[in-house]
Amino acid sequence: MTLALYAFNCGWFQCRPGYYIEGEQGDYLRGPVPSYLIDHPKGRALFDTGMNVRYRRDLETALPANKFGLQYFEGMEVAARLKAINVDPASINWIINSHLHIDHCGGNATLPNATIIVQSRELAAAQAGQETGLYEVKDFGTGQTVKAIDGEHDLFGDGSVRIIPTYGHTPGHQSALVKLPSGAEVLLAADCCYTERNLDKMVLPNATADKEAGMRTFDHLARLRRDGVRILFGHDGKQWAGVTENVPFG
Ligand SMILES: [Zn+2]
Repeated sequence: MTLALYAFNCGWFQCRPGYYIEGEQGDYLRGPVPSYLIDHPKGRALFDTGMNVRYRRDLETALPANKFGLQYFEGMEVAARLKAINVDPASINWIINSHLHIDHCGGNATLPNATIIVQSRELAAAQAGQETGLYEVKDFGTGQTVKAIDGEHDLFGDGSVRIIPTYGHTPGHQSALVKLPSGAEVLLAADCCYTERNLDKMVLPNATADKEAGMRTFDHLARLRRDGVRILFGHDGKQWAGVTENVPFG
């Protein structure tokens, strides 16, 4: 058995183009709220877990297409996505939270046996930042064991899943560099870069906690991309249209 990487969309984030790149005009965009399963011979890890049940909507209560916000529909939550490919949520050993914003750790509560891996500076930011509305203790403080790390971490000790710091969007944001059986590398970037267009233009969004760190992260991403790494961006609807969910990446 070798490593397998699966992608799921666990909801939608709606915003105007100017949220990603200040000054850009246009209709509201609908970006995914991704989660990734890394199924490794030594254990199962989920990278980000989507939203808590309070963001669930149905056809009658759905956000209009021209409203800013987050939502998901029944069946999109991470536990349902796992069950749909016959993976028991209780079998997840690790949760790698890119950061602790509400749309990245809201499914943690449904993964009872996982150890949560987060940068210690992110945990501190979440604990201090609850009044901002972006961090909620009911999402990030769900009682499982937390492994707080500082900087890089090789999850399985074989170089196949390397957690790397990508600070900027938040003080302790992290991403995961996954080596596929083919040798190809994929970076699960999450919100250190919302869309491919941000990286193409080297423009940080306004929602950046530390702009200097954010630009260093963009430089790092640009180097990785030049070296052939496929980057999966945080909320990029255009890119997501080309992602096949539920089957291992080739
Ligand atoms: Zn975020």
